[in-house]
Amino acid sequence: MSFNVLVVNAGSSSIKYQVFDMENEKVLASGLMDRVGIPATVLTHKRTNGAADVVIEKDMPDHTEGMKLVLETLVHPEYGVIKDLSEIKAVGHRVVHGGETFAESVLITDEVKQVIRDCFDIAPLHNPPNLMGIEACQALMPNVPHVAVFDTAFHQTMKAENFMYALPYELYDKFKVRRYGFHGTSHFYVTQRAAAMLGKKVEDTKIITLHLGNGASMAAVDGGKVIDTSMGFTPLEGLVMGTRCGDIDPAIVFFIMDKLNMGPAEINNYLNKKAGALGLSGVSNDFRDIGDAAAEGNKRAQLTLQVYANRVKAYIGAYMALLNGCDCIVFTAGLGENGIPIRQMICEDMEFLGIKMDNEANKVRGKEVDVATKDSKVRIFVIPTNEELVIARDTYALAK
Ligand code: ADP
Repeated sequence: MSFNVLVVNAGSSSIKYQVFDMENEKVLASGLMDRVGIPATVLTHKRTNGAADVVIEKDMPDHTEGMKLVLETLVHPEYGVIKDLSEIKAVGHRVVHGGETFAESVLITDEVKQVIRDCFDIAPLHNPPNLMGIEACQALMPNVPHVAVFDTAFHQTMKAENFMYALPYELYDKFKVRRYGFHGTSHFYVTQRAAAMLGKKVEDTKIITLHLGNGASMAAVDGGKVIDTSMGFTPLEGLVMGTRCGDIDPAIVFFIMDKLNMGPAEINNYLNKKAGALGLSGVSNDFRDIGDAAAEGNKRAQLTLQVYANRVKAYIGAYMALLNGCDCIVFTAGLGENGIPIRQMICEDMEFLGIKMDNEANKVRGKEVDVATKDSKVRIFVIPTNEELVIARDTYALAK
């Protein structure tokens, strides 16, 4: 009997999904519904049997209606991939913030939902829509197990000496102000793959993972356990990102609030949405556009790429120091998997740390490959991430 798992990632105005047959871990269908709750909702449904994509344009007032259409699409006589909803045996939900409560995936109960709700304060953009997705699916599929897989879980192995900020301790006691880290599912997946590529048990590895997408974060992983990561209390800290500033002097916040006459909500939006590569380059938040502009001689675009690469370099150095060694660094996510020039810029002039890239081997996109020279002490891997597969596996393990 096949065991199909539906993986759901509900954002504020989007629903992403994949259906896995867990017998062979094959994806039967995947899709994205965009503009949920705003006019001109579009659902793009993809099947993996080679059939053409199905595009459905129909306004969806909320996540429940949106999920209903997704499920109708999955069982549709013409372009569905299952005959009946009863063929979905479990649902796995991506949840961004699990606070300090969850170091692993869990079956969703009322108590679990309450913890997700308790984290609304510290993840106001992500946890509310995640919970909406869970409740919509529970209403439509009340008789199957639902599992929550948290972006923060893999980082919960961090010790206080790495997750605490040098702030008055009562902020941690009262409000749980600390570093959490995000993209954990992706860092976990590529850590496992990297250990396999090294031919070692994960317990015997020291790995630095670079998840470079629109949001970007790094992790220092010792023996399969995260010891530090670049995103913090929120996803704003750390690397330069598409639209987020990453590390800055916190005093800048008060300075620009004063100069630009902004309140807390405005400055938060500004640093999350208008800064980063977009703000610095003035070109785009997409590194393809910035790369093109840089190649045409745009000085700010060139500067943006170098600022971006230098921040990553600095974190690699810091993490090597914390790990006291490094078997490999791993590039993943949109830019990490595809950004050939940026990978080269990051790895340039790092021989002192044992990192030597083979620039010819580096000319690859979206494949699992070692792009270091033979004599490089540290291996350099490109590994396409697969967060959905991790969610499906955890869901299967907990539900079956
Ligand atoms: P998200 O964080 O939204 O999941 P992704 O991991 O899909 O993002 O990464 C998206 C980003 O990856 C894009 O904004 C773009 O900057 C970068 N990217 C994707 N493809 C390429 C490419 N071929 N060359 C350079 N950058 C790319």
